[in-house]
Amino acid sequence: MSEATTEFKLTYYESPRAGRLALLTMDNGEDHRRPNTFSREALASLEGALDELETQEDVKGLMLVGKPHVFAAGADMNSFWGADEAFARGASQAGHGAFSRLAALPYPTLAAINGACVGGGLEIALHCDYRSLSSAAAAIASSEVFLSIIPAWGGTQLLPPLVGAPGALRVIVHNALANNRMMKPPEAVELGLADRLIPAVDFFDDSVALLEGLVTGEETIERAEPSDVGLDDALADARRAADDRTHGATPAPYVAIDLIEFAARGGDLAEGRAREVAALADLLPSRQAQASVYSFDITQRRVRKQPGKPDTPARPMTKVGVVGAGLMGAQLGALLLGRTEAPLVMKDIDEEVLEQARATIEGELDKRVERGRLNPARAGFLKSIVTYTLDYEPLAGADLVLEAVVEVADVKRKILAEVEQVVDAGTILATNTSALSVAAMAGGLAHPERVVGLHFFHPVAVLPLLEVVRAEGTNDTTLSTAFEVGKQLRKSAVLCADTPGFIVNRLLLRFTGACVAALRHGNDFAEIDDAVKALGMPMGPFELLGFSGVEVALRTAKALHDAYPDRFEVDENLRRIAELDVPGIYDWSQGRVPFDEVREAVHVEGGATPWTADEIREAGLQAVAEEARIMLDEGTVADARDIDTGMLLGVGWPFFNGGICMYLDQTGVSQRLFGERLVGLEDRGL
Ligand code: NAD
Repeated sequence: MSEATTEFKLTYYESPRAGRLALLTMDNGEDHRRPNTFSREALASLEGALDELETQEDVKGLMLVGKPHVFAAGADMNSFWGADEAFARGASQAGHGAFSRLAALPYPTLAAINGACVGGGLEIALHCDYRSLSSAAAAIASSEVFLSIIPAWGGTQLLPPLVGAPGALRVIVHNALANNRMMKPPEAVELGLADRLIPAVDFFDDSVALLEGLVTGEETIERAEPSDVGLDDALADARRAADDRTHGATPAPYVAIDLIEFAARGGDLAEGRAREVAALADLLPSRQAQASVYSFDITQRRVRKQPGKPDTPARPMTKVGVVGAGLMGAQLGALLLGRTEAPLVMKDIDEEVLEQARATIEGELDKRVERGRLNPARAGFLKSIVTYTLDYEPLAGADLVLEAVVEVADVKRKILAEVEQVVDAGTILATNTSALSVAAMAGGLAHPERVVGLHFFHPVAVLPLLEVVRAEGTNDTTLSTAFEVGKQLRKSAVLCADTPGFIVNRLLLRFTGACVAALRHGNDFAEIDDAVKALGMPMGPFELLGFSGVEVALRTAKALHDAYPDRFEVDENLRRIAELDVPGIYDWSQGRVPFDEVREAVHVEGGATPWTADEIREAGLQAVAEEARIMLDEGTVADARDIDTGMLLGVGWPFFNGGICMYLDQTGVSQRLFGERLVGLEDRGL
């Protein structure tokens, strides 16, 4: 799909104070959901506007502005897919060429950043002499490093002299590594990225007035000269952050740091621009950047269209219930209340658990009030529409009841049957089970067609994935409602069949299984974690186990072993560790050192030789490849992109690995094992 072309339109305004001003507007003719982007055609449009401007002799100043809610979102990502070196070089040079002409205009230029300003949008703004920023601008970011490329339209060279190297590193490297963190307007102004923060209502007029003042000299902008004090520390810090986050598995952050260092040490601008061009030519065709383009597409565009959602009207949410108010239930209650603002019933069998759930739910509301996102009266109202109860009766009239009780099939089946006694025949009953059969839970009900799996991930507020599990009997209204709830809760819903472990837990467990097996061969925990982290994972499998719980992993392993005994083993070492009374694998108070009991619990096979790091990775990836292929063949998912979306959004596998199927394809594992790629095996009839 090609983006609508962003046109640069020139108009002129006769200012009584300042004379003739040029207004350059970027607009692709679409609403804010399709932001302005800079394709080759867009840059040609800018060149056309500059051709005209350069012939105008009486222009005294220029203001560059976007369309409603959007300034510009940068390069057109669609053109990145399959890009080769020549394309990358040409694209970078085209931006440098056009933006440099803008920078060379012989009068004051002001970028009036009226809305979202990302990537190349920020770079064009940096080519203006001044920047005003609307308080309503939704996001300001330099996202390139997140996509395993670099800002290659001058960003790495113009930002350090403007805001200093530490600020430039924060925007270009640290924020990008922190999952593409976006800045709010006050932070951007404080950093020096923009010169003035202007309230949204007055933004356009006040920006024009600012430009007029700059032209007449009535306004001056003072900027502190960036110093290079602390430069070495800031650079070392950034390199450390790149190591921590990517373990060297993608070159982009390191290249960006080198470019920023070049500019910060007084490097020549023309030479810096040439270095950016060369760097992009290297990076854009790379495996990591190509995988990132794919990851971006499937998680930002494809999943939002909710593939697999039936065309049937959903049941509106006017009242919701959660049964089981423990760790997950309390978080789910908070999310449901916050997003649907519908009356909520929290049911448990334990009074104390209910009190903790109340603290969680009310605490979330209080946090939003403190941050100014919710007014106190509304928070009070929302608190008043929650019922905490030991009984089922208050669930009557609910449109959705979501169960999050202990992971025991019989308990869940019994609870759903009890809920069915008090709700109407169309109430959607959803289960948050991690691995159990949804159909088995629905089996004894009068209306099994209203049961669906809604598998959220812990921590619920952070992980955006929702696995929507369709059991054999689930009807279209139920499924459609499940997707609609996902959308209301702002989760990315991926459809999967009712197979044990669904998508993410099943694959993760196969991977972890291979890593746990390495213990038998005499590898130690840290060695295995490091081997996996070299793939670019933020955490190794044993570090992750400490976070999510060894016992939970063992329980899921058992469920999967019961379903697929030949592929999922219940490893004796894992079983012994899970029996210990220790929080995870490592005693972090000592650094990354395993607890003595954990180390002692591991049995190494007699005569085994430890695996090399390559062998550990190979074992993990082969296992995942095999499982992914089986999932596609048996129709657990309709499309490999669903698997990748799950891994990216459910467990935070890096964008630059494209989830997992894309990685297996790119590195030739799929072709070696199956003679074909995994991505592209679509429409397998889920
Ligand atoms: P938890 O032990 O913290 O909470 C379970 C709650 O269910 C307890 O408060 C218990 O009192 C309550 N309960 C038991 N019987 C009940 C009954 N008859 N009526 C009402 N409440 C009852 O467990 P959890 O970690 O929140 O897990 C809940 C579900 O979510 C499980 O199915 C689990 O597999 C799934 N899940 C957990 C995670 C995770 O990371 N913990 C992630 C995704 C899904």
